Amino acid sequence: MQTAGIHHVTAMAADPQRNRDFYEGVLGLRLVKQTVNFDDPGTYHLYYGDGVGSPGTILTFFPIPGLRPGTRGAGTTERVALGIPVGAAPAWRARFDDHHVAVGERAGGDGRDGLVVADPDGLEIALVESADVVGPRVWGARVGSEMAIQGIDGVQLASAAASDTARVLGVWLGLQPDDHGDYRAGDSLGGRVRVRDAAGAPRTRLGAGIVHHIAFRSTSAGEQRQWADHVRRHGALPTPVQDREYFTSIYFHEPGGVLLEIATDGPGFTRDEPFATLGEALCLPPWLEVHRDELRRHLVGLDSAPQEAPR
Ligand code: ZN
Repeated sequence: MQTAGIHHVTAMAADPQRNRDFYEGVLGLRLVKQTVNFDDPGTYHLYYGDGVGSPGTILTFFPIPGLRPGTRGAGTTERVALGIPVGAAPAWRARFDDHHVAVGERAGGDGRDGLVVADPDGLEIALVESADVVGPRVWGARVGSEMAIQGIDGVQLASAAASDTARVLGVWLGLQPDDHGDYRAGDSLGGRVRVRDAAGAPRTRLGAGIVHHIAFRSTSAGEQRQWADHVRRHGALPTPVQDREYFTSIYFHEPGGVLLEIATDGPGFTRDEPFATLGEALCLPPWLEVHRDELRRHLVGLDSAPQEAPR
């Protein structure tokens, strides 16, 4: 079996407003859904992506006010790379300067230009110039389309058992190694995974700024059942199918410690609100709708990121 690549990346955060101000306000992604963590409904689950939250463009967060920072070590996704148009890196450097976001080292390592920043919780986000763009509905509301983020370029895993993790990517998920040592799912968005050997490093401690899991794409519910059988045959223990409203999911750990998910491409984020107003209101699944008033009392208010004056 072969996945089409990364579906989404989910990370922990502390303050929901600060998270929204960065991903919507600075990076210019669209907040395509504000809902709650279905496994912990007193906290938000925020989804950002292109205009519709296409698979391969989605970053999601569990922001928990007051959550302490985690510690990156072995068994996590330690960097998320987002694809930007070729030639857009200098414009991003200037934009980060305007927003007082410190820009670190050059990203890449494979000859492509790019830069690395930390989100407000310390999660490393790389912006990499990428020609691998397959039809995202780029969200140009805050950042012009000439520099807008296209979607997830790839991720870097820190593995406690790098050769085992490489086997998972190659044999379980059907990714192909390339000349740079990356594992590729073709040229699509979210099609690049790099493994760093972190054997001997302390285990990752979950907290703000730490990636919780990464999800790979499945085309359908039927294929997802095949994925569950497939990874079980390789020795994984997948969870039963979980209904996440906008996709269904199975989860399993790989031997290097990283929590993986297989998520379906559909039904997507227009399931319960129209394209024009995606992300503007709190959406709840039917089984939580009856608790809306109570949940509202638990959740802090969440406003749109400030609009900036044109330069
Ligand atoms: Zn997920």
